[in-house]
Amino acid sequence: MDIQALEAQYTSGVYAKRDLTIVAGKGAILYDDRGREYIDCVGGQGVGNLGHAHPAIVKAISSQAERLITCPEIFYNDQRAALQARLCELTKMSRVYLCNSGTEAVEAALKFARATTGRKNIVAAMRAFHGRTMGALSATYNKKYRDPFEPLVPGFSHIPYNNPEKLAEAVTGETAAVILEVVQGEGGVYPATPEFLEAAQKICRERGALLIIDEVQTGFGRTGRLFAYQRYGLEPDLICVGKSIAGGLPMGAALISERVRPLSIGWHGSTFGGNPLASAASLAALKVIEEEKLPERAEQLGAAFREQLTSIPSPLIREVRGLGLMIGIELKQKVAPYIQAMTEQGILVLNAGMNVIRLLPPLVIQPEQLDRVAQALETVLTHPQAETVENN
Ligand SMILES: *Cc1c(COP(=O)(O)O)cnc(C)c1O
Repeated sequence: MDIQALEAQYTSGVYAKRDLTIVAGKGAILYDDRGREYIDCVGGQGVGNLGHAHPAIVKAISSQAERLITCPEIFYNDQRAALQARLCELTKMSRVYLCNSGTEAVEAALKFARATTGRKNIVAAMRAFHGRTMGALSATYNKKYRDPFEPLVPGFSHIPYNNPEKLAEAVTGETAAVILEVVQGEGGVYPATPEFLEAAQKICRERGALLIIDEVQTGFGRTGRLFAYQRYGLEPDLICVGKSIAGGLPMGAALISERVRPLSIGWHGSTFGGNPLASAASLAALKVIEEEKLPERAEQLGAAFREQLTSIPSPLIREVRGLGLMIGIELKQKVAPYIQAMTEQGILVLNAGMNVIRLLPPLVIQPEQLDRVAQALETVLTHPQAETVENN
């Protein structure tokens, strides 16, 4: 059976596919159907902070699957209760709404912000990515994602990222919330300045708007802290998480502070939300992140790795940016051919837009594996590549 032909025939068509069939993984390594191995710096697009087939996650999922997979939130459940308590303990938030993806976490936060402030407007940033359902998409900036689906939800505006003055102009007595990523991921791996984040919190507090921090990509150790906002002493009113929250299983959550007024029964809900299987996986993931000190690992490995990348003598590189092991290499030209060349070197990398190579390796990656990635990048970026098909 030709897997690629079969999938190409029946897949929805909304994804740009690479010419690779991935069938297994272990740690930071992925295997294709011919047994060829790759160092994985795609990291499931941010889902794979713990690496592939982590034994603690495999065990948590298999033993919970034998006990109870599904249980709606109309009943209490041991795994869900423990997870909600743990997430609040780790973030100093007071309540948790559990769902199944990042965009749902954002959707929930936007609804909670509108409902509890009684205001309509949401201020987001240019280059922001918050997801693709209608509410989250309205906060997302990229025209390519938005334009075919207009009209989107009214009341959204976008200000330049890292510009406190423009933010101050945009937030009024009609603003329900400001939503920001701490490092813009899809938009090109742009870290926020501390001044911008501090100003955002201050402006929100002064004007009675809520501050929603989207940690879907930056969360769970990726940037060298459990959550990136913790680096800046922020106290967000709502935090959106997803991606690596459950060791690879689909899950998302909106973490809710005391400053959000109590929510009413029926305002929101999800059939799969807070299911015991994902909750057990998430509890196990949080334990691994703590025991294996993954945030510290991301901080240390990331700093050394970014230094290696910065010293690559290639005139193609405009800038190396990032935080922890969330890294962007901006080129002066399109990255698609270089991503293809990296695959030929046995390394899978992502893009972020047309000109940025994005690296999201599992935080369990070995230093020697990162050395190989840096060497391959040097090889590829010091030799011009022919144009290939667009990657995104
Ligand atoms: C990926 C992402 C989302 C959307 O998450 P999905 O699980 O794909 O719906 C939202 N916000 C940010 C910052 C993301 O990186």
